[in-house]
Amino acid sequence: MNQTFKDWCQQVKDAACRDWPGILQSLAGLDDQQTDTKTRRRGAPCPVCGGTDRYSFKAPDTGGWACRRCGGGDGWELLKRVNAWDFAHAVREVADYLRIEPYKGQAPTHQQREAARQLAEKRQQANKNRLEREQQKQAAVHDQRAVYALQEWSNATPAKADHPYLRSHRLPPFDLREVQHPHYGRCLLVPLINDAGGLRNLERINPQGLKRPIKGAQKQELYYQFGIDSWTVYICEGWATGAAIHINQPHRPVVLCAMSAGNLENVTYIARRKYPESNLVIAADHDPAGRQKAFIISAKFDLKVVLPGHPGEDFCDMHIRESSV
Ligand SMILES: [Zn+2]
Repeated sequence: MNQTFKDWCQQVKDAACRDWPGILQSLAGLDDQQTDTKTRRRGAPCPVCGGTDRYSFKAPDTGGWACRRCGGGDGWELLKRVNAWDFAHAVREVADYLRIEPYKGQAPTHQQREAARQLAEKRQQANKNRLEREQQKQAAVHDQRAVYALQEWSNATPAKADHPYLRSHRLPPFDLREVQHPHYGRCLLVPLINDAGGLRNLERINPQGLKRPIKGAQKQELYYQFGIDSWTVYICEGWATGAAIHINQPHRPVVLCAMSAGNLENVTYIARRKYPESNLVIAADHDPAGRQKAFIISAKFDLKVVLPGHPGEDFCDMHIRESSV
C-alpha cells in the first residue's frame, strides 16, 4: 500500500485526538494540572512562558490551550513552541508516542523507545526547571517593585477630602495618601498588602478615576482592608465599593478589596484563613462578569453573594445614588 506522507500525517493527527493530555505530558513536560480543563476557571503556569495562572487548557481532543501572555493554539502548536520543533519533527514524535509506524523504515526498537522515554523525562525536568526559574525571576521583580511602592508611599501625604475622586464618590479619605504624580496628576494611593501585612503595591487613582498601577508590581494575593474585626466579612473588587459597604453599615464591618475580579478568589482564601469563624460574603459588582465570578467563588467556598440594587451598579454607585437623594 502506497501511503503518502500527507496521508500518514493525517493518520497521526487523527490518532492524536484521542490522547492530547498524554501526548503533552510525555512530549512537552506538562503536568496533570496543565492538561486539565479545570484550568479554564483556575488558570495554571504556562508551559511556554511561565507565570502562575495565565494559562488554561481548553480541549482534550485538540490539545487546545490559551495563555494571556503568549497566545495559544492547538496541541501541535504547544509541542512546537515548548520544544522548538517544526511540524515534521512534532508529527514524528507524536507518531512514535502513539506507536504508529514511522513513515519510512522500521518501527522503533526497544532501545529507541527506552531512549525516547528517557528523553521525555529529561524534557519534563528541563521544563520544570525553566518554570521555577521564571517564577523566581518574577518574585525578584515583585520584591524590587515593592521597594519602589514603599518609597512612593513614604513620600506621599495623607489624602485630603477634597480629592476629586473622593468628592465624586462621596467618600472620606480613610488612610489613603496622595501624591502629585508627574504624568498622572493628583493621585490617590491605595496601599495593597499581602497576607503578612507587607506593602507590596499601590493602586494610584487619578482625579478622573483612572487606575494607574505600578508597572511590574505584584497583583495577585494582595488586598486593601477596611475595619479590624467583624462577624460578617465582605470581599469585593474595588476600593470605592469596599468603602461604600464599610461606611453604610452601622457596625463598620471588615471589607477586603481584591482590586480585580481575577484576584477575588485569592482574597477569599486569605479571608478564610484570617477570619475562620466569620461569615464571609461576596459583595459582587452587578454586571455579567462580576456576577459570574462571584457565583463561581461562592459555590466553591459555599458563601453568600450580595448584589447592589440595580443591574449595572456596584455598591459605590448605589451609595452615590442613595446619598444624593
Ligand atoms: Zn504563555
